[in-house]
Amino acid sequence: MVKTAHIIGAGISGLSAAVRLSNVGFAVHVHEATQQAGGRCRSYYDAATDLVIDNGNHLMLSGNRHARAYARSIGSEAGLAGPERARFDFMDMASGERWTLDLGNGRVSTWLFDAARRVPGTGVVDYLKLAPLVWAGTAARVGDTVACKGELYRRLVHPLLLAALNVDPPDGSAGLAGAIVRETLLAGGQACRPLIAREGLSAVLVDPALALLRARGADIRFGHELRKVQAANGAVTALDFGEDTAAVAPGDVIVLAVPPRAAASIVPGLTGPVKFRAIVNAHFRHDPPADQPALMGVIGGLVEWLFAFPQRLSVTISDADRLVNAPREELARDIWRDVCKAARLGADVAEGPLPPWQIVRERRATFEATPEQHRLRPGTRTEWKNLFLAGDWTDTGLPATIEGSVRSGDRAADLALTMT
Ligand SMILES: Cc1cc2nc3c(=O)[nH]c(=O)nc-3n(C[C@H](O)[C@H](O)[C@H](O)COP(=O)(O)OP(=O)(O)OC[C@H]3O[C@@H](n4cnc5c(N)ncnc54)[C@H](O)[C@@H]3O)c2cc1C
Repeated sequence: MVKTAHIIGAGISGLSAAVRLSNVGFAVHVHEATQQAGGRCRSYYDAATDLVIDNGNHLMLSGNRHARAYARSIGSEAGLAGPERARFDFMDMASGERWTLDLGNGRVSTWLFDAARRVPGTGVVDYLKLAPLVWAGTAARVGDTVACKGELYRRLVHPLLLAALNVDPPDGSAGLAGAIVRETLLAGGQACRPLIAREGLSAVLVDPALALLRARGADIRFGHELRKVQAANGAVTALDFGEDTAAVAPGDVIVLAVPPRAAASIVPGLTGPVKFRAIVNAHFRHDPPADQPALMGVIGGLVEWLFAFPQRLSVTISDADRLVNAPREELARDIWRDVCKAARLGADVAEGPLPPWQIVRERRATFEATPEQHRLRPGTRTEWKNLFLAGDWTDTGLPATIEGSVRSGDRAADLALTMT
């Protein structure tokens, strides 16, 4: 008899679990509370810029093996565009200096021994001093583990960890920072090539999954919010959506892939992170200069990362709680000045009328990747043998990332299979 998998939440973690269970023949039902799939990783039409934009610029790396396997399984891996080598362009706002960090494309970090490929002003010994992060425990803070000062910190460690942890790096979990260092810098250039969904997050990571699931007969329902569950004898027996209820037969599985607050209202006694940080993205409808790299790190600016898309320059600012209530017009102007400097658009353009723009402030973009919040992350199993948790906030061993989301969805699906 065909078994049923109920996937609650159509973010990346839910979709990856849905695809994995559908691959092995489950009849999949996806229940999503909102009218759109993708969760915190989605695209939409923006009238202000008259462009389809993403809720946030998302950077993936070639070492994100679960995320890439997910994209491959839905036929869209080619949509993750990136260079042949792991090259990252940077500019320093204070000095105007520009450089390229060239991690190459090998498995061994030979770039460390070539001054021209390293961060300017740094020596091999500076990088070796990062080693304690690699074996740091989950209770330690970055600031207690490595020295958060000097050129290497300012020009590489700070921007890398700020983007990955979404907290001021010294306050971040050294264990999570260590996972990032192990899976990126230590794994050589082959793991560090930047990958961007240039056609948009939904086109690459969401819509192909929905199409595949639908082609296999999956039932995908929007505006279908799980309110609570009924359980008996250690297993969930029914899903209560308020206006309707779905019975759960023996052998059927449920993957609860919703944010922590929603999960805690459904699973009694569940712990999860309770503190979150914002990410601000600004999008300007302006053609990037021909030589503008697809991605540029900006040191010492309001802007942290500048992305160049066709017809659009977009920026990301992490750990951005300080900006969520800033007046929008002023913020757009300040960000545009940094963009013009980084992309060499000139003072006239910087002080002239703003091009069509949009600012997207995701207030609860990610959980705070501090030791305290990390400690609250639950595993995949619950007190009910047929209900499994997924989500970037579960204990994936990574900060809140697409890779972590996919890993959690894969793990939930794999455990669900062992149950049946
Ligand atoms: C602005 C921004 C920038 C980011 N940048 C990056 C980046 O550069 N690189 C990177 O790797 N990651 C990045 N991330 C993180 C990444 O987007 C997330 O880790 C990932 O999208 C989380 O997916 P998820 O499935 O775990 O959770 P979510 O996306 O939160 O999905 C949960 C889903 O559950 C639904 N739901 C909630 N309650 C219910 C209910 N009761 N019943 C049914 N459905 C429900 C929600 O509507 C939602 O669709 C960024 C995030 C943001 C916000």
